Amino acid sequence: MTGAVHVIGAGPAGLMAAETLAGRGHRVIVHDRMPSVARKFLMAGRGGLNLTHAEGLDDPARFLSRYAEQAERVAPWLERFGPAELMAWVEALGQPVFVGSSGRIFPRAMKASPLLRAWLARLADQGVEVRTRSRWLGWRGSELAFETPSGDQVEPAAAVILAMGGASWPRLGSDAAWTVQLAERGVALAPFQPSNMGVDVAWSDILKGRFAGQALKPVVLSHGDQTVRGEVILSRYGLEGTAVYALSAGLRQAIAAEGVATLTLDLRPDVTVEALAQRLARPRGKDSVSNHLRKAGGLSPAAIAILREIGDPPPGPEKLARRIKAIRLKVTGVQGLERAISSAGGVSFSQVDERLMLTACPGVFVAGEMLDWEAPTGGYLLTASLASGVVAGAGVADWLNSRAD
Ligand SMILES: Cc1cc2nc3c(=O)[nH]c(=O)nc-3n(C[C@H](O)[C@H](O)[C@H](O)COP(=O)(O)OP(=O)(O)OC[C@H]3O[C@@H](n4cnc5c(N)ncnc54)[C@H](O)[C@@H]3O)c2cc1C
Repeated sequence: MTGAVHVIGAGPAGLMAAETLAGRGHRVIVHDRMPSVARKFLMAGRGGLNLTHAEGLDDPARFLSRYAEQAERVAPWLERFGPAELMAWVEALGQPVFVGSSGRIFPRAMKASPLLRAWLARLADQGVEVRTRSRWLGWRGSELAFETPSGDQVEPAAAVILAMGGASWPRLGSDAAWTVQLAERGVALAPFQPSNMGVDVAWSDILKGRFAGQALKPVVLSHGDQTVRGEVILSRYGLEGTAVYALSAGLRQAIAAEGVATLTLDLRPDVTVEALAQRLARPRGKDSVSNHLRKAGGLSPAAIAILREIGDPPPGPEKLARRIKAIRLKVTGVQGLERAISSAGGVSFSQVDERLMLTACPGVFVAGEMLDWEAPTGGYLLTASLASGVVAGAGVADWLNSRAD
């Protein structure tokens, strides 16, 4: 192969791969099919760009465990570019970071746009060329084909980094159409599935009409032997929010296997059953049951609505306290890829070497969510996407060097 190194996909993984390569003196052209770059990254910044997690600084083993079955594969990426390196990189782009109360790390600006602007300016200084509305169509012989506004174009490439993302939120650009081209080349792919998605619970019309959109925080949510503390948001279809997302892999698997799953919700995680029962035992006086639950039980109207969804509150403070701390919700399905934060599935790790080069296609590297790993929200997705970009970029540089020798 001759020509520049082409990076396909201008999300966090692709842009980081481009920066790494340009830093090593390579000519890099980045393509994105959308009219502007990094749309998912910008979307991620909407609710606060959670870059990484302080766990990675204090307890790296715990941080790594978030990548579950793929932790071993992700470990070398993080050794190269872990949370500390990521934070230093963001700050060097003029965006100070802070650690939120939950340990999540954000840029002080919260949004992604100032960081992206500074990053694109750095890439331009490095000589990286970014071509938008340039959609990769696959290979034509050993060359790369792109659909562009001025017609289809074919380009030679010294090497290629594929960083076209997973399959969630396809309207932001990552539509996973690349699976066809890679399957044709004999690359094994795991089917895409939603990750960090909402789950379906058959709420009553009252709950849907009056409480959809409301958040409950903090709550503790359990599924099987997994328990997480965080936030849940009531939606018309069921539940979403960080606590649900953290359990999403297990819930997805349970739904696939059994058709239903049970979530246990603790609405008052900071109070013991005994203490809550004592409070609820206070005389109700003229208060309605709801007012009593609110005042003595410390429950919000939305929390009371959930409590009522599973039947009348049981009589007696002890039983009621137990119910409030262990509401069993029947989950009947999971939301699809259209609105999932991320996806599981993609290029199997068996298909790439430690440099992230496809063994079936020498000179073709893969980075980011295209690879088959998943992680909960909390900054783990961006951390691994960026780190894999560093690894793939360095991998290309090393591979090109080895061929020049
Ligand atoms: C609503 C939302 C909020 C999120 N919040 C967070 C968060 O706070 N913290 C966190 O860690 N993660 C968050 N994420 C996840 C994070 O954004 C992703 O993990 C990350 O963007 C993946 O990076 P990537 O580079 O692998 O892929 P993407 O960001 O998906 O980039 C892939 C790029 O490839 C382009 N592309 C696809 N096909 C082609 C083609 N054929 N030709 C050319 N270009 C192509 C796409 O247009 C896209 O720009 C969030 C995601 C969503 C949807």
